[in-house]
Amino acid sequence: MEKVALLKCTDYDVNNIEKKLREGFELLGGTSFLRTLIPENSKVLLKPNFLSIVEKGSPVITHYALFEAVVRIIKEYSNNIIFGDSPGSGDTRKAAEESGLMEVAKRYGVRFVDFNDEVHVELKNPLMYKFWNIAKEPYDADVVITLPKLKTHAMMYYTGAVKNQFGCIPGSQKAAWHTKLPDAVNFSKMLLDLNSVVKTSFAILDGIIAMEGNGPRNGTPKKMDTIIMGKCLTAVDSTAVRLIGYDDVLAIPILKAAYDTKWGTVIPEEIEILGEKIEDMKCKDFKLSRSAKVINFISPSLNNFVASLTAPNPVLIEEKCIGCKKCGEVCPEKSKVISFVKHNNKVIPKWKYSNCIRCFCCQELCPRGAIVTKNKPLSRMLGLK
Ligand code: SF4
Ligand code: SF4
Repeated sequence: MEKVALLKCTDYDVNNIEKKLREGFELLGGTSFLRTLIPENSKVLLKPNFLSIVEKGSPVITHYALFEAVVRIIKEYSNNIIFGDSPGSGDTRKAAEESGLMEVAKRYGVRFVDFNDEVHVELKNPLMYKFWNIAKEPYDADVVITLPKLKTHAMMYYTGAVKNQFGCIPGSQKAAWHTKLPDAVNFSKMLLDLNSVVKTSFAILDGIIAMEGNGPRNGTPKKMDTIIMGKCLTAVDSTAVRLIGYDDVLAIPILKAAYDTKWGTVIPEEIEILGEKIEDMKCKDFKLSRSAKVINFISPSLNNFVASLTAPNPVLIEEKCIGCKKCGEVCPEKSKVISFVKHNNKVIPKWKYSNCIRCFCCQELCPRGAIVTKNKPLSRMLGLK
């Protein structure tokens, strides 16, 4: 049985979070568990989620108080802690400063690293890709502890422990992966391989205030009072998606890919939840990004075809759009899909849906939340929300 710790934490008071995290580590095996996780003289990378440059305390990113609580505990096991990320847009250092994490890091002697330098490495026994260009810092770290935020995600339905390491792909190379792997299950296999490359050792999921609806950037904050900790990333994610309403965890592309390839532990019956009872922590009215309903035909190619016909479209809320053209910049398919037209005295994006690969980078990185996903008539007919 794979173990995860499910903890109830009702606010971002750093002392409360530290107390809860210590309880979580105690449930997982206490000091000896931590010593095994972080051997003597290890270089530990803390990998928060910096999706973009947003203000301190924003539900878009890992909260600075959770980061501080983690640092207080990990400092007892390593004097060599670094933290960093490569956000989907904007400068990493500025993102770290605005988020409040840089100030915490300076107080505790934790060194900021950007993910600009890259290494070319080989992965033995990959699910998909043997050769990788990834950021040097996470690859060189002895221990990678991921600190994801629990959020909805238009392409992946949910983002948490596995997806958080997409930030280990340097800068603009992220877009190329979307073009290469437009299908969510194959994209998920790539993410699993990526976690094998950087050897992510442990996850602490920040779901104290999660994000529902139009996530991962423009959704609504949702108080869930939850922290989930564990060594197995897929077990942490499997537990998280059950909390937000996905009873069938295999509806989530990352968990389906992991289950199919026997990567980690996915099935609830094989996960021992320590601490709180999952039934007590479930959020009954969480607004999902994508329906949990899966239509399964026997033929995988037919499944893929139906999925392509039923995937939602990105659509504009015109009154929110400021004509910044960021959506066009981040779209991996560039001008093949998004063009800009004048309408009502302003410039707005227009989509050519036949060329859209439904990666939803435009929806994710629009600074004004002016892009939402909308299901097509066929998916509405099939009851896919
Ligand atoms: S939709 Fe968003 S990203 Fe695109 S132009 Fe409008 S405000 Fe900018
Ligand atoms: S238009 Fe949006 S969803 Fe479509 S390919 Fe471009 S970024 Fe991805």
